[in-house]
Amino acid sequence: MLYIVFLTARCNLKCKYCGGSIDESIMPPEITYDLEKLKEFVERDEEAVIAFYGGEPLLRASLMEEMIDLIKAKHYVLQTNGLLLKNVRRKYLKKLSTILVSIDGVKEVNDFYKGEVYDRVVENVRWLQKFYEGDLIARMVASEKTDIVRDVKHLLGLGFDHVHWQINAVWSPEGLWKDFKSWVERYNSGISELVRWWSEEVEKGNVLGIVPILGVLRAFLFHPNPSPPCGAGKTAFAITTDGRITACPVCADFEWNVAGSLEEGIKKIVEIREPCVSCEYGFICGGRCLFFNREWLWGREGFELVCKTCKHLIEEVRMAIPSVLRAVEEGLLEMRDLYYPPFNNTTEIIP
Ligand code: SF4
Ligand code: SF4
Repeated sequence: MLYIVFLTARCNLKCKYCGGSIDESIMPPEITYDLEKLKEFVERDEEAVIAFYGGEPLLRASLMEEMIDLIKAKHYVLQTNGLLLKNVRRKYLKKLSTILVSIDGVKEVNDFYKGEVYDRVVENVRWLQKFYEGDLIARMVASEKTDIVRDVKHLLGLGFDHVHWQINAVWSPEGLWKDFKSWVERYNSGISELVRWWSEEVEKGNVLGIVPILGVLRAFLFHPNPSPPCGAGKTAFAITTDGRITACPVCADFEWNVAGSLEEGIKKIVEIREPCVSCEYGFICGGRCLFFNREWLWGREGFELVCKTCKHLIEEVRMAIPSVLRAVEEGLLEMRDLYYPPFNNTTEIIP
C-alpha cells in the first residue's frame, strides 16, 4: 500500500494551476497528530511505501528525516518542487527510492506557470544527480503552453530517469485555459509523435523513461492497471496533517474522499464509477483519476475531451507493441526492462 503523508500544508510557491498553500479550512498547516500513531498505522503493512507530500514537504525537511528514522517502510518517495533539496542531508536523500521534482518543461513554460524558479531547480537537480542513485523523475503539469514533445524531450535531456505528467484538466482555476479543445488536438498529435520516437528508440534497445507510455505498456504486457491507476482509494491513501485518511491527496475537503483516520484506520474504499467501470479501456485507463471520474466539473464535453486523450495514448502505445516484441526477440532488451513503475511511486500512469 502507498501512504502519501502531508508533511505540511504550506508551500513556498504559488503556481498558477495550483494556488500554493492548502487552505486552513481543508487541513491545518502543520501536523497535529502524534507520529507514533502514524508509525503504528503504517508498520502494520509489510509492503508500505511512504511518499512525502505537501504543500512543499521540504519546508519540513527535518521532519522527513525523523520519519525515515522512525517508520519502517519498503520504499520512501519524495514529491518536491526542488527548491529546498539541499536542506536534506545526503544520507537521507540516498534513502529515497524515488524523487519526483516538479518542473514543467522548458524554462519559458515552467516560469510562466510556477514563477521564476527554473534555474534554481535545475541547479539543484544537477547537484543531486552527482550522488543520487535512485529514480529521479521530472513531474510536469501539462497546460496550454505545454508542447508535449518539446517539453518531454527537454526534461529527458536534463538527465531525469523518467518524465511523467498530468494534464491540468477539470479542476484548473477559472480562466487559465483559453482553448482546451484545440490544445487537446495538438496534444494528441504530440503523443503520436512521442510514441513513434519511443518505438524507434526501443528498436535500438533503448527504453526511454516516458512514464505514461511505460505504464500503458505494462498493462498490455504484464497485468491490468489498478482502477484508478494511481491506486487512490484502494491501494493508495493520503494522511492529512490532522490525521485523516483520504483516498486521494488533492481533495481532502470532499466528503466521499475521506476514508478514515489514524485513530480508526481505513473504514472504506472509494470506487471508480461509470462510464469507466464498463469501458473497454478500463483495464489500462481505470477511469484515469478518482476526482475526474466523480466530479464532472467541466461537464460532459470536458470529460469526453480528457477521455479522448486517454484513449488516444492507449491506441498509440498499442501500435508500438510489435516494435517492443521484436526488440525482445532480437535480444536487444528483456521483458523486465519494460516493467514500470516497479511499485506505486506516485506516478499516476494516465496523464
Ligand atoms: S477511456 Fe474514458 S471512459 Fe474509459 S476508463 Fe478512461 S476515462 Fe473512463
Ligand atoms: S490521479 Fe486523481 S485520484 Fe489519483 S491521486 Fe491524482 S488527483 Fe487523486
